[in-house]
Amino acid sequence: MAHVIVITGPSGVGKGTVIRLLRERIPSVRLSISATTRQPRPGERDRVDYHFLTAEQFDALVSEAAFAEHARYAGHQYGTLLSELEREGDGDGVVMLEIELQGARQIRESMPEALQVFIAPPSFETLRERLVGRGTDSAQTIDERLSVARDELEAQNEFSEVIVNDRVGDAVDALEALVQSQLGGAVD
Ligand code: 5GP
Repeated sequence: MAHVIVITGPSGVGKGTVIRLLRERIPSVRLSISATTRQPRPGERDRVDYHFLTAEQFDALVSEAAFAEHARYAGHQYGTLLSELEREGDGDGVVMLEIELQGARQIRESMPEALQVFIAPPSFETLRERLVGRGTDSAQTIDERLSVARDELEAQNEFSEVIVNDRVGDAVDALEALVQSQLGGAVD
């Protein structure tokens, strides 16, 4: 089975960017495509960025026990489908989950062998600046996300691997080292 690596951390911390840059360095790392009930942002594509589902579709999959984890976040449902964890051709490669804290905790229970990495901001203020700066969310959404982020930041002590995303290149270096060590240095 593929090595599962969970990347978590507050919204706006730059998880997506760090993962994108990592995958440019190690293309064999596969990113799990989550399901969500939130609306696509401009430019986001169904089944590429997320499986965009209605609340009814999401609930039906929950009753079918189709999720490895799922959580409500800022008014919407998000979840990792079990079918995303095991794909033909993964071999003993890496599948990466970019998920919020409640989901990371569920995976810690069900898959204790999975590596869990918390990406932290250099400060709370940088989170606000990034969320405002990326211009994808309304002021109300940003406030909701920042209030969740406060709690999420307190949880970083649960994680043995914490990467502070101050300079993104350094954060990618640190994550690359973790992935390589998980794979015994055999990836390219
Ligand atoms: P966004 O709406 O900005 O794409 O994502 C909001 C939050 O949901 C982010 O912290 C993101 O990491 C998290 N998220 C994305 N997919 C999943 C998932 O499948 N499960 C969980 N638990 N969280 C997810």
